Amino acid sequence: MWFTEKWTPNIHFSVKVKEHLLSEKTPFQQMDFYDSFDLGRFFTLDGIMMANQKDEFIYHEMIIHTPMSIHPKVEHVLVIGGGDGGSVRELTKYSSIKSIDLVEIDERVVRACQVYLPQMTIGFNDPRVNLYFEDGLLYVKNSKKHYDLIIVDSTDPIGPGEGLFTHEFYQNCFRILNDDGILINQHESPYFEKEKLEMQRAHQKIKDLFPIASVYQAFIPTYPSGHWLFGFASKKWHPTKDFKRTLCSVLDIKTKYYNHDVHLGSFALPNYVKQELGINLK
Ligand code: SAM
Repeated sequence: MWFTEKWTPNIHFSVKVKEHLLSEKTPFQQMDFYDSFDLGRFFTLDGIMMANQKDEFIYHEMIIHTPMSIHPKVEHVLVIGGGDGGSVRELTKYSSIKSIDLVEIDERVVRACQVYLPQMTIGFNDPRVNLYFEDGLLYVKNSKKHYDLIIVDSTDPIGPGEGLFTHEFYQNCFRILNDDGILINQHESPYFEKEKLEMQRAHQKIKDLFPIASVYQAFIPTYPSGHWLFGFASKKWHPTKDFKRTLCSVLDIKTKYYNHDVHLGSFALPNYVKQELGINLK
């Protein structure tokens, strides 16, 4: 049996599956868990790969340790989406963080990951973590709490994830960030047309709101094209000039992908990506 994701109408990505562990239609999306020969266990939402045991560390280390090595004092963090727990797991490695609020629209994602991918959800047992099962769009609209860091660990801008790519959402994130706050978001890919357009739209909206808006990259073999981007939006801190070389190593946080050279290199974008984002090539 094979799991196949259509990256484009003409390019498909297929994984040979050992066992289909769960197939469930939740109130928000179709959720499937599989065990595979080469990627270990993985799960999909609406037929799209979310996380697998082989390469999830790349996405989660890059989405968390990058901003954590820039902002000097992160105490209160909001994660929107991220029901698999990978982002929260990386955040709980920092003893300086006081609260981590996770807002996931679909409780079933959290509960199924706790059963089938328990190594990803260990952070949920940390007493600093609060789980809220509601729409992230409404949460940021109504929130009175302010944050140092917001992580948007969302699905693509279709279905429940659509609202997390709107101007209104980014505007409310800006409002509930402290004066030196940072917003990181899952920013799609520059390579294939569909993801490229989504990335361009997201970047334009963020650029209009934040004084510092940049994009950084990681190589994630199981996401379309393997070339994936994260948005970096900040009120004060610059992603490379304010980068603290020592942060991760002093804290002795073990990483498999993220390191200081990767941090700096991840903001060095290829020319075609710069052009897509409207960044001057000089
Ligand atoms: N790394 C992943 C990727 O890009 O493939 C994202 C993984 S994480 C599982 C995405 C989560 O966002 C899903 O569990 C989904 O339920 C959640 N989500 C989608 N729309 C949401 C919304 N409006 N508010 C809160 N969570 C949302």
